[in-house]
Amino acid sequence: MKVPAPLVAQQRVLMGPGPSPVPPSVLAALALPTIGHLDPEFLRVMDEVRSMLQTIAGARSGRATAISATGSAGMETCLVNLLERGDRALVVRAGVFGTRMAEVARRAGAEVDTFDVPWGESFDVADLRAFAADRSYRIVACVHAETSTGVLQPLEGLRELADDLGALLVVDAVTSLGGVPVEVTEQGIDALYSGTQKCLSCPPGLSPVVLSDAALERVAARTTPVQSWYLDLSLIEAYWGGERAYHHTAPINMLFGLHEALRLCLEEGLEARYARHARMARGLWAGLEALDLAPRVVPERRLPQLTTVAVPDGVDEAALRRRLLNEFDLELGGGLGPMKGTTWRIGLMGAGATERHVHLCLDALAKVLERDARAATEAAARALAE
Ligand SMILES: *Cc1c(COP(=O)(O)O)cnc(C)c1O
Repeated sequence: MKVPAPLVAQQRVLMGPGPSPVPPSVLAALALPTIGHLDPEFLRVMDEVRSMLQTIAGARSGRATAISATGSAGMETCLVNLLERGDRALVVRAGVFGTRMAEVARRAGAEVDTFDVPWGESFDVADLRAFAADRSYRIVACVHAETSTGVLQPLEGLRELADDLGALLVVDAVTSLGGVPVEVTEQGIDALYSGTQKCLSCPPGLSPVVLSDAALERVAARTTPVQSWYLDLSLIEAYWGGERAYHHTAPINMLFGLHEALRLCLEEGLEARYARHARMARGLWAGLEALDLAPRVVPERRLPQLTTVAVPDGVDEAALRRRLLNEFDLELGGGLGPMKGTTWRIGLMGAGATERHVHLCLDALAKVLERDARAATEAAARALAE
């Protein structure tokens, strides 16, 4: 074959549903010399990743690890380890990722009850309680930040409900971790998984997973082996924890990158990071309003890090996104499922939550839609200054 040319750097502005922009120091960490995966220096990196993850997720007990694959593998890890064949699972489906959870739980052999929520809306715990009636479940699972719809689901009351159902509480925090407060201990979460390429601003490739003590006990009490050898948390723990028994070769350089990304979160301070995401979102929303573009989600439930916007009538949304990419190097996301063709998804995640990103996006949208860029800039600037 003819050998392909070496890759050249593309300077894209990533404002879709992930991956988010990666800071230079994270890219530099990824390019550090590879060392052995049982090298004492690397074991220290693993330990530090664990404790930083635990801090960022607000887990005062239990255990954190980074699964060697993307966010969906974190989802699968939680479900295949906590569920055994025939267990009952209650899964909330309010978008793509809740739907994926239900499918993974079903494939893990569970009897799955799905509580369906209209796309673009959140649910009330009282309604979920009424749906669950007095059945008991092994797990109750929902998505905290539904990236397909742009909805932030409040978690209040879910711990009590899970207790009443005899269930462990499983939460998808792929898009929430690092962008909005996530408090594993305070919110009573038993199993939480995330991803690196959303608000943590690291390339995709790892999935942080945090388990409570109760979830760890549940894994230890299984009567059947986890059907996935690769995602078996007991084997993974023997590698990440005490014995350091070889299980698989951790993606060493990815963990260097995650180490730096987590360090940047803590250096900024979690409160400051959440406040930054919230402020940038207010700027974007004000600018969108000035452009007469309507967000799909009510303000109280809107994710700061991912805004879904209704595409104006008569606009070919995919063609317009192609123009944004070609003319502005700007990547926005399209809609998924029932929102395909009618919705844009605008991400302000991690290192992408800056004033520069807000203004660049509004300018580019004004240009391609032939709307008033100046009004948008001024509205955004006013909101950003508040
Ligand atoms: C992105 C995402 C996932 C899946 O993560 P991958 O890294 O694409 O496997 C799961 N849940 C939510 C809410 C997400 O946004």
